[in-house]
Amino acid sequence: MTRLSSGGRIEVICGCMYSGKTEELIRRLHHVKIARQQLQAFTPKRDTRYATGNLVSHNGVRIEAQPIGSITEVFDYLHDGVQVVALDELHFLDDEPDVVLTTVQALADRGLRVIIAGLDQNFRAKPFPAMSRLLAVAEQVDKLFAICVRCGAYATRSQRMIDGRPAPFDAPTIVVGGLELYEARCRACYEAG
Ligand code: ADP
Ligand code: ZN
Repeated sequence: MTRLSSGGRIEVICGCMYSGKTEELIRRLHHVKIARQQLQAFTPKRDTRYATGNLVSHNGVRIEAQPIGSITEVFDYLHDGVQVVALDELHFLDDEPDVVLTTVQALADRGLRVIIAGLDQNFRAKPFPAMSRLLAVAEQVDKLFAICVRCGAYATRSQRMIDGRPAPFDAPTIVVGGLELYEARCRACYEAG
């Protein structure tokens, strides 16, 4: 059997909106920099919440990132000597779930540490298909939680609101927005649209 390069691994940071996924990703990348390892970060082009080209947590810490339209573009931009690849907001990618899986596996098989952050569930509380696959194969999975804005319990779901009402089930899956559109809610307070 061919021995794969050492160091290759997949880490997934998942959870609902405001659970601190981007903060945790930025924390890990800060450590990568302290360890003087080479890193490249990527972010889907459709995440327009903030200036494209940066990973930004809600508290304003930022790391430079390359916007990509498809996961396969990572190979176009990847520099020699890079040891760590970060992908924020993975659920925003339009690629077929199996393409995402194959690409991320290929990066890890090359010996890269791939750190992924993304929503595990959409606003209907259904799994995002690409994230589900990555959760299954990752060496490390961290599921973070936010605080339910209704009752203060740990929140695992992202409730999308339209004019103060839960968005209907058939609303589009991806709508980019912040506090005015999405609320973190626990299982008990989550309302199906
Ligand atoms: P994510 O990437 O998971 O959406 P961020 O890392 O961008 O999350 O932001 C997490 C931050 O959001 C928290 O540190 C906190 O300051 C803020 N925040 C806003 N609303 C909530 C909430 N309901 N529960 C927890 N944190 C919240
Ligand atoms: Zn609640």
